[in-house]
Amino acid sequence: MRPFDYVSVTDIPAAVQTIATTPNAKFLGGGTNLVDLIREDIERPETVVDITRLPLAGVTALDNGGVRIGALVRNSALAAHPLIRTKYPVLAQAILAGASGQLRNMATVGGNLLQRTRCSYFYDTASRCNKREPGSGCDAIGGFSRGHAVLGVSPSCIAAHPSDMAVALTMLDAEVEVESVRGTRRIPIGEFHRLPGETPHLETVLEPDELITAVEIPETTKNSRYRKIRDRASYAFALVSVAAAMETRDGTITEIRLALGGVGTKPWRATEAERILAGAQAGDAEFRRAAEAELAAAVATEQNEFKVELAIRAIVAMLREVNN
Ligand SMILES: Cc1cc2nc3c(=O)[nH]c(=O)nc-3n(C[C@H](O)[C@H](O)[C@H](O)COP(=O)(O)OP(=O)(O)OC[C@H]3O[C@@H](n4cnc5c(N)ncnc54)[C@H](O)[C@@H]3O)c2cc1C
Ligand code: SF4
Repeated sequence: MRPFDYVSVTDIPAAVQTIATTPNAKFLGGGTNLVDLIREDIERPETVVDITRLPLAGVTALDNGGVRIGALVRNSALAAHPLIRTKYPVLAQAILAGASGQLRNMATVGGNLLQRTRCSYFYDTASRCNKREPGSGCDAIGGFSRGHAVLGVSPSCIAAHPSDMAVALTMLDAEVEVESVRGTRRIPIGEFHRLPGETPHLETVLEPDELITAVEIPETTKNSRYRKIRDRASYAFALVSVAAAMETRDGTITEIRLALGGVGTKPWRATEAERILAGAQAGDAEFRRAAEAELAAAVATEQNEFKVELAIRAIVAMLREVNN
């Protein structure tokens, strides 16, 4: 492990000023991803700016019916919060489907959104990886790719986005609030993560000197759920996951929201399936038609082509569940 400087900040102006004026610095949230990456010599910050003392650990109801979540709320606290459990059960379920109790006790909302891929070649510095070393190649393509993405892939990178929480937030149309020395800006979560294209090392639209301060979720139907399919019942990343919310009137779908995890290079909003389902009769035939249309764009490898049918079936099962 390379040596680095450690700085702790207690207010937001100091945090954004420090990151803007310190070369090669990184914020430290719960540290559950960053510290591993430093140990593996993948991230090499010269300074780590500890932000865990910033006053960003609140969950508050908004006047417009939505909720504001501070970037430093720990994953366990968020999943247990009464506002989240009652109004956004999909978010509580998605968080509890991720990692382990100890990791969730440490992990923060901001850090979860920025966690890096679990592609094993990314972690193996002896392998070629365009995300770790731009232009070096991608050993996952033609290599071990069972867990990799089938949607949004490029010839440069097929790594799946690992976060469960981000899938639920994507389905809920959350907005990410960020702060820097230039001021505050808000980013719709659908625009926050980038597709890999030819630059897989650029994973989000966040600038290196921007601090995530909060995530806001608008009011929406409470009829929402998350289902995660994985190799083990806990402590495993998704092969496929589905976040869904639906309302019907006399069998007609009046509100539909759908997002996928484990299959996309970013948290995947299933816009094609939503388009087909909006105003349709709720039922297995329409659910399957919509799911197949969403997965029609899939580009799979021999090892992960099973994910296409698995995702279709997971979508149908999830929609059946929210339809009851
Ligand atoms: C064994 C294991 C299993 C896991 N399983 C799952 C799983 O099944 N599902 C899942 O979703 N996740 C899983 N995770 C990932 C875990 O959820 C993430 O490690 C965690 O959410 C990261 O949050 P953190 O606060 O610890 O981030 P950190 O490690 O502190 O930071 C991560 C990145 O975010 C940056 N950062 C942190 N906060 C901010 C901020 N406010 N503004 C700007 N930048 C910031 C840091 O600089 C760093 O680059 C697993 C992790 C491990 C180790
Ligand atoms: S899939 Fe992406 S992260 Fe994995 S080796 Fe290829 S470039 Fe690297």
